[in-house]
Amino acid sequence: MIYSRSQHPISRSHISENALKVLYRLKSAGHEAYLVGGCVRDLLLGREPKDFDVVTNASPEQVRKIFRNSRLVGRRFRLAHVRFGRDIIEVATFRGQQDTHKQRQLNEEGRLLCDNVYGTLEQDVWRRDFTINALYYNIRDFSLVDHVGGMTDLKAGLLRLIGDPEVRYREDPVRMLRAVRFAVKLGFTFETATEQPLTTLAPLLRDIPPARLFDECLKLFLAGSGVQTFEMLRHYQLFGALFPDAERILATEAEGFPRLFIVKGLENSDRRLTEGKTVTAYFLFAVLLWHVVRQEAEQQEQQGEPAQAAWQNAATRALNRQIRHVALPRRITQAMREVWLLQLRFQHRSGQRPYRLLEHPRFRAAYDFLCLRISTEGVDPKLGQWWETFQQADEAEQRQMINAHTASRRRTGNNPRRRYRNNRTNQNKRSHDV
Ligand code: ATP
Ligand code: MG
Repeated sequence: MIYSRSQHPISRSHISENALKVLYRLKSAGHEAYLVGGCVRDLLLGREPKDFDVVTNASPEQVRKIFRNSRLVGRRFRLAHVRFGRDIIEVATFRGQQDTHKQRQLNEEGRLLCDNVYGTLEQDVWRRDFTINALYYNIRDFSLVDHVGGMTDLKAGLLRLIGDPEVRYREDPVRMLRAVRFAVKLGFTFETATEQPLTTLAPLLRDIPPARLFDECLKLFLAGSGVQTFEMLRHYQLFGALFPDAERILATEAEGFPRLFIVKGLENSDRRLTEGKTVTAYFLFAVLLWHVVRQEAEQQEQQGEPAQAAWQNAATRALNRQIRHVALPRRITQAMREVWLLQLRFQHRSGQRPYRLLEHPRFRAAYDFLCLRISTEGVDPKLGQWWETFQQADEAEQRQMINAHTASRRRTGNNPRRRYRNNRTNQNKRSHDV
């Protein structure tokens, strides 16, 4: 089906100047050139596209020659990146050969390992995931090419995989995560056959390279609808394939505390994102794994391990297990560990310690984390108030706060350091005010 310019609402004024430049230049060099994928979908829905992807029948080498400001990238698929300052337009060549299995390698589970063969637009359609992602905007006559009923699905708010869903998920299990991401982002519902295999095939995600899953996790949780995404991932048992330890704790926890903690954490970051503020990935991952670490640390403390060592070991172990599934990079795991371990230090409010904590580069994140724990897991709100005031106080006031705190500790004989040294039986209790 071809929708002529008068039959669809996409206007060139909504397309980025750089994308138009690329399209026109390819056209005047005698090639076919289309916008495709998320940008066409988003333009049709009246949303602002994140980026503009171009597809052409010119080979990557030809594209490279047409644009001096381009370079070839990608090992799995070769693409050209055309650069305009900080803006990059991705130009892909039609992919083909979907019928002959000669060039297309699948592993035993049916996963696609290599499909780097060029083809025509008609063939290119079949390597795309959802019908709404397979609409092509033709720069030659501004028409919209739709071979899979994408326009109808778009109007109906339906997410439908192209072809046999089970085969397509097996080819690339990450499509299951993309399904959830688009359903949430666009508010679309799954067409029945697209939804049906999700839970059964969720375990296939375990074979996906952890680095790719990390990229997907960022898109899933940092797009402003983290709560809904989390709930939907859990519903289809996809969350457990990404964060098995967290899922185990969520599934066994009776009072629902970890779930509340995670939901509140995601809610906060969703709110920040809607307000145009930034959210750090490490904070979110620290939220997702907090109860995993906490459970393990408390067990070790109960066995007599000093708090600091218990938490350090628990953090190391939890992270080592997690990165086998989702490859959290070192800068992120390091920051997560700091946020967790700083939780131990909030209770120490004598001498120089509060000043040192305040100067710690992760203080703010750790403090936000503490607030989350106060609102969901019974940490004393007074502790949060103390630090809130302390951050804003001038030097004299800070000194006074520390003195007052030290004095009250002496009066009640409730000095954490002394208690720790003298009274091991108090350790159970200690772990709760961590
Ligand atoms: P977003 O708004 O997140 O950028 P998008 O649809 O543009 O959404 P991209 O990851 O940028 O998603 O991919 C661009 C296009 O490439 C998709 O619209 C789809 O047609 C195709 N595509 C991307 N990933 C896959 C995949 N795993 N399987 C099949 N097709 C894919
Ligand atoms: Mg895109």
